[in-house]
Amino acid sequence: MPEPTSAATCLFCRIVAGEIPATIVHDDDDILAFRDIAPRAPTHILVIPKRHVASAADLTEESAPLAGRLLLTAARIAVEEGIAADGYRLVSNVGRWGGQTVDHLHVHLMGGRTFTWPPG
Ligand code: 5GP
Ligand code: ZN
Repeated sequence: MPEPTSAATCLFCRIVAGEIPATIVHDDDDILAFRDIAPRAPTHILVIPKRHVASAADLTEESAPLAGRLLLTAARIAVEEGIAADGYRLVSNVGRWGGQTVDHLHVHLMGGRTFTWPPG
C-alpha cells in the first residue's frame, strides 16, 4: 500500500520547507508561489498554501479565507508578471480525472499566450 500523502513526504511541502529548490516569486506567512518546473505557457506559476491541503476538495469552512487569499495572490502576481492586461488562465486540478499529479492544493497561473476552452 502506498503511503498517504502527508506533510512529511509531500513534494510541495518540501518546497515550502526549503528542502527542494524552486524559483520563488511570492512568499508570505500563508502562501508560496514558484515557477512550474515544466512550464506549459511563457508564464506558468504555481500558487500554494504553505499549510498542507491535498486539493480544493479538502477545503473546509475554516480554510475559506486561505482559499480566497490564494486566488487574490494569483491575481496580484499576474499583475506583477505583466500578464494581467492580456488575460490569463487560473486552474486547479482536483483528483485523478481532474489531472492532479501533486496532492497539495495549487492554483496554476498561466499566461503569455492564448488558451482554448474547454481544456483537454
Ligand atoms: P498538477 O498536475 O497536479 O495540476 O500540477 C502539478 C505541477 O507541478 C505540474 O505542472 C508540474 O510540472 C509541477 N511540478 C512537479 N514537480 C515539480 C517540482 O519539483 N518543482 C516545480 N517547481 N514544479 C513541479
Ligand atoms: Zn503538502
